[in-house]
Amino acid sequence: MSDCLFCKIANKEIPSEKIYEDDVVFAFKDIDPKAPFHGLVIPKMHFPSVKEMDEERAKIVGHMVMVGSRIAADQGLDNGFRMVINTGEDGGQTVDHCHLHILGGRSLQWPPG
Ligand code: AMP
Ligand code: ZN
Repeated sequence: MSDCLFCKIANKEIPSEKIYEDDVVFAFKDIDPKAPFHGLVIPKMHFPSVKEMDEERAKIVGHMVMVGSRIAADQGLDNGFRMVINTGEDGGQTVDHCHLHILGGRSLQWPPG
């Protein structure tokens, strides 16, 4: 999608602090970190959220989780971390390109509010 912020980040039309990239996903640092480490993993293929899933998207989201887990290990988040997929307005989603948050480096409260 030409007017999508995260498509532009994945295409490197907008700069970001890249963490990892392969054929399926792109990972980068969140611009407004909510924890000492805050990364985002996004699919290169645009889809808005996990509200509407199919087998292809489920495979991609599974890959996002695997990459997120490896990033957490690389970042030394051995004491734990949080993965979050905000979905829709009530879920606090502000960018309509599916993304996985990886947060860690301090004790995170639950529920988040
Ligand atoms: P969400 O609220 O779940 O939709 O998450 C969107 C996230 O994208 C927020 O945590 C923002 O801080 C982050 N964000 C927005 N614009 C950028 C950007 N240009 N580079 C990196 N992260 C961004
Ligand atoms: Zn997009």
